[in-house]
Amino acid sequence: MTENLELKKAASWLKQAKSVTVLTGAGVSQESGIPTFRGASGEGLWEKYNPMELATPEAFEKDPELVWRWYEYRRDLVRNARPNAGHYSLARLENLLPSLSLITQNVDDLHQRAGSRNITRLHGNLFEARGTQSSCVIPLPDPLREIPPHQEGEMLRPNIVWFGESLDSKILARAFDAARQAEVLLVIGTSLQVYPAALILPLALESGARVIEINPFPSRVPGTMVLEGTAAKILPALEAELI
Ligand code: NAD
Repeated sequence: MTENLELKKAASWLKQAKSVTVLTGAGVSQESGIPTFRGASGEGLWEKYNPMELATPEAFEKDPELVWRWYEYRRDLVRNARPNAGHYSLARLENLLPSLSLITQNVDDLHQRAGSRNITRLHGNLFEARGTQSSCVIPLPDPLREIPPHQEGEMLRPNIVWFGESLDSKILARAFDAARQAEVLLVIGTSLQVYPAALILPLALESGARVIEINPFPSRVPGTMVLEGTAAKILPALEAELI
């Protein structure tokens, strides 16, 4: 089947669906210039560090300043980036498909800046901090006045779910509900290597959803339709089929 026929088929699935869930990962922001974790390169100063070794509670305990500086670097990249055509298409899809609920593994704010409203953030937010002792969450001052930042004598940490940490149980339950209820699940720009987020796809499949994967290097989970290509190319083409 040609790609165009696949796009039409995907669009007809979306039109018929009473509930649509979208799961995004780092790949959706790649065309905004935000490197993904797997296959990332060209990060200059940070090339000698492995993100998977910096985004851990152990790394923070050992060297909070290094971890904060890495997140400052990542925030800077995102501040200077703009949402791409894929983010904007997803935001418009929310108007075309009112049941659409967006679950993201991303910690950037590009979905929000593109206009998406109904966003479940699985892994936190680059622009927030939380207490290392208390559970207070605060927006980060821009620029940071001290590294690591403190509030009322308590050291703050990035409000990010690090490798090896548990996700907020309410947020995870909401995401799993959306996976179970989905008639169509769109999986965009994720390598499906990070758990429990990766369980959303099999959960939706088991619950009878049709699953469409958008990725230039798709994982091709059996039973899913693949739209091979980048988010900024495929999503506007899919949107055009829906209008
Ligand atoms: P990942 O880095 O493991 O995988 C990226 C995926 O995106 C790959 O499958 C790749 O083939 C695909 N991809 C690359 N370019 C693409 C494009 N232009 N369009 C569509 N797909 C493209 O990312 P992950 O699965 O999200 O898991 C990594 C973890 O790291 C997540 O928790 C995520 O929150 C975090 N992370 C977030 C950001 C961000 O917020 N922008 C960036 C890097 C990593």
